[in-house]
Amino acid sequence: MEADSAPSRSIAAPWRAAWAAGHRILSRAARLAVDIALPTLCVSCREPVDGEGACAACWAKLSFIAPPYCPRLGIPFVYDPGPDMLSMEAIANPPAYQRARAAVRYDDVARALVTRFKYGDRLDLSPMMGRWMARAGRELTAGADALVPVPLHWRRLWARRFNQSAALAKTIGGIAGVPVMAGALKRVRATPQQVGLSKTERADNVQGAFRVPPERKAEVAGRRLVLVDDVLTSGATVDTCARALLRAGAAHVDVLVFARVVAPLRTTI
Ligand SMILES: [Zn+2]
Repeated sequence: MEADSAPSRSIAAPWRAAWAAGHRILSRAARLAVDIALPTLCVSCREPVDGEGACAACWAKLSFIAPPYCPRLGIPFVYDPGPDMLSMEAIANPPAYQRARAAVRYDDVARALVTRFKYGDRLDLSPMMGRWMARAGRELTAGADALVPVPLHWRRLWARRFNQSAALAKTIGGIAGVPVMAGALKRVRATPQQVGLSKTERADNVQGAFRVPPERKAEVAGRRLVLVDDVLTSGATVDTCARALLRAGAAHVDVLVFARVVAPLRTTI
């Protein structure tokens, strides 16, 4: 009896499994079709949009950073103080990196863009954001040997599945014709999120978190590098990265970010 029923079960089982697998694939394809058919939503106001990322109204709200700005930190000036005039911040607290440039101010729309890009799996925003960064950083990439994306700790990379800085660096590198040096910097220590920390706490938090692996030092030595990150808040992360690259012998380190925090305008007396 067992000899009779066993073969029929063993034939039926694979068919059932194949049918179930086929069904799963079809329903996944159907879901994908729905996803494609649905319009893209504006990252900021969630209204449907035709193009990339944000709707026209939200575009208009983004504040692109243009000259005049501090040649060192890229902080916009209210008026043009003339060439080579540094901002008070650059004089009082000069960073390890040479120059920083950002595409936009980190305001509500920029925050929405970055958040969706970073945590919302909106990798499709990378070409657009990268294009603006390439434009903002033309001066930096013109003399650069390589772009170095700020690395994520492997645990965060694993959870998020992609490094947003590496995605941006890839776009910028393609436009500017500068190679991306991935892996030149390593995050040796997982650091808690910087959100909600003071400037000093941020600096302490990332202290010693980055390192150039010994086998990559020869690549870094003598090179002009541009660090790429999504947001510059206090500058503690990119400053620590720049220190690590300079310690490994880099000749020059600049910083290019998508958005930077700009303190509200101060009135001069
Ligand atoms: Zn919108």
